[in-house]
Amino acid sequence: MIPQIDLTRQHAALRAELLEAVERVLASSRFILGPEGKALEAEVAALCGVRHGVGVASGTDALHLALRALGVGRGDEVITPAFSFVASASTALHAGARPVFVDIDLDTFALDPAHVERAITPRTKAIIVVHLYGHPADLDPLLAIARRRGLAVVEDAAQAIGAAYAGRPVGSFGDLTCLSFYPTKNLGACGDAGMVVTSKEELAERVKRLRDHGSREKYHHAELGYSSRLDELQAAVLRVKLRHLPAWTAARRRLAGRYSTLLAGLPLVLPRERPPATHVYHHYTIRSPKRDALAKALSELGIGTALHYPLPIPGQPLFRSGEAVPREGECPRAWQASREVLSLPCFPELTDPEIETVAHAVRQALSQIE
Ligand SMILES: *Cc1c(COP(=O)(O)O)cnc(C)c1O
Repeated sequence: MIPQIDLTRQHAALRAELLEAVERVLASSRFILGPEGKALEAEVAALCGVRHGVGVASGTDALHLALRALGVGRGDEVITPAFSFVASASTALHAGARPVFVDIDLDTFALDPAHVERAITPRTKAIIVVHLYGHPADLDPLLAIARRRGLAVVEDAAQAIGAAYAGRPVGSFGDLTCLSFYPTKNLGACGDAGMVVTSKEELAERVKRLRDHGSREKYHHAELGYSSRLDELQAAVLRVKLRHLPAWTAARRRLAGRYSTLLAGLPLVLPRERPPATHVYHHYTIRSPKRDALAKALSELGIGTALHYPLPIPGQPLFRSGEAVPREGECPRAWQASREVLSLPCFPELTDPEIETVAHAVRQALSQIE
């Protein structure tokens, strides 16, 4: 059995380093907003090529607080891709705004710039640009539209830490960028955690205030905030793992290269890396019109797969009522993606023989379902 993801291998390899980090925090008994979090914020900001990092409780909170920091609220519209994890749109609702769904480009699975322009109205405040599966969105045209129309850009880089566009790290393009350290992400905590990164001091200060009850001075509350900090235990764990991220990213890129060689010529659409993007392969996601049969056959051959995602966001029951709902057919490529995508096993510790076993199983499964 080859699972789609296996975190136990990573934690077995890092056990001593992780325990040492946890011991350090226990000995200090400082658990919230301390030196580990501060150091992690500086390290992640540097990796993203920006000046500030603000640790928060999750990637979802990072998106919500980023929108709040921009002043997005009631009556505003936020443009977001119709195909992503739900938080790329639900956080606009949390901020009081209306998500406006835009179709994707099937090469990158990210916002199609041509469709963004048409979705802008006088109420549009911001665009959430998602770098899905670790492949950066087509940033040049998207940023040009935002600049021309005076819109804020929030990068959702939850799946794309370490990725680059034209040689520059994602996280350095938007007004604010949101990262998730959910355990299965490329840099994952042992629990929930996230971060907002930005070079804009004022926005960083606003997120810092929002994550801590609207307060920068203890027991003085300037505005309605939240309780959403990244705790010291998670920060210490993440600092250990951050040192390994470059090697893990290299391993992901290598395994994607192996898959793409081994699967070439089969009736499948393989993920591509479209210049000037550098992909970090959070997922290795293929497309097939026979996706469901393929997934079933692979499961019977002992290969774990996953569906990212089985429904476009506007197809989720959450969005099926209310004014934000586009009808099926309005974002046809998002619907098509949700019917065709299949994520193969993809994690840095996957061995060469395992990659070959997966590729062989895909070949066999396809011949069975002919
Ligand atoms: C994981 C993820 C999030 C949310 O992050 P959490 O840490 O799970 O709250 C948001 N957007 C995308 C694209 C994600 O993959």
